[in-house]
Amino acid sequence: MKRYPLIFNPNSRGEKASKAQQFFFQNAQELALYASQSVENAIELINHFADQGEKEIILSGGDGTLNQMIDLFLDRNLTMGIIPTGTMNVYARELGIPTTNLEKAFQTIKDEHISEVDVFRINGAPFVQMAGIGYDAHIIQETCPKLKKKLGPLAYLQSAFKVFGLKPPSMLIETEEGESLDGAFVLLGNGALYGGHFEVFRDAKNNDGLLDILVVKKAGYQAVIDFATNYLTDPSFPFEGADHITHIQTKGLRVTSKKEIPVELDGEYAGGATEFTITRDERGLKTFKPVEKISNDWHEALGAFSSISPW
Ligand SMILES: [Mg+2]
Repeated sequence: MKRYPLIFNPNSRGEKASKAQQFFFQNAQELALYASQSVENAIELINHFADQGEKEIILSGGDGTLNQMIDLFLDRNLTMGIIPTGTMNVYARELGIPTTNLEKAFQTIKDEHISEVDVFRINGAPFVQMAGIGYDAHIIQETCPKLKKKLGPLAYLQSAFKVFGLKPPSMLIETEEGESLDGAFVLLGNGALYGGHFEVFRDAKNNDGLLDILVVKKAGYQAVIDFATNYLTDPSFPFEGADHITHIQTKGLRVTSKKEIPVELDGEYAGGATEFTITRDERGLKTFKPVEKISNDWHEALGAFSSISPW
């Protein structure tokens, strides 16, 4: 029987984490379990497995955990298996990996179907699902991680109102294809999903070599924020239909601003800058995914309707 190395954080708390750990121990015949206390520790373990000739490694975690390991998986030419145990698990959802059924999630790995997903970089730092320059990054920056653990998605809403009243920044967006426009907020999508369940980039494919971006114009900033508030209360609200939003597909772009602007990568705050260069890595991230998307259990489908935050 094949045995996959699996890296998990033994300090994760909460019902989800303890259920996952129980599942791992029950399946220890097929999973070689490695507890990792830190990012450095996880990197060390993964390098060790790669040195031993291991080609496939499973990570248990959320979008932030996966994001931190992208470079290592690319450099060591490894395939990533995902057991989603984070708050949002956007990347897992995008790939159709079940986020509420550990058994089914593990089965998607055992089925050995591998997909190569585009990796984009902002000033060198990678992301596989989504990124944002401006408004959403600011909200994430303002959200205390402890509160996020306690309140879940609600924690972001609280910060959203804090960031609400701030003056919109001014950015210049220039695409590799020669398009140039002004904006106050830029969302970048590698896949269709942004935040938990929201298909913000409806036509985006994460293996077409293109990035889907939404640029919110400065003039429409307030309108769009109002719009986003509507969207929060009614997720069926069509985001891309707004007048003040331009949708572009591009191979790469540059964003510049006089003032420093925050950026988020796969939902994690990643600092601020006045210049952002966004490029695609020539290598794709190999990830196990189901041949067909597996829908989640009914109670999660219901959860999608009652969810009030796109992050
Ligand atoms: Mg794409």
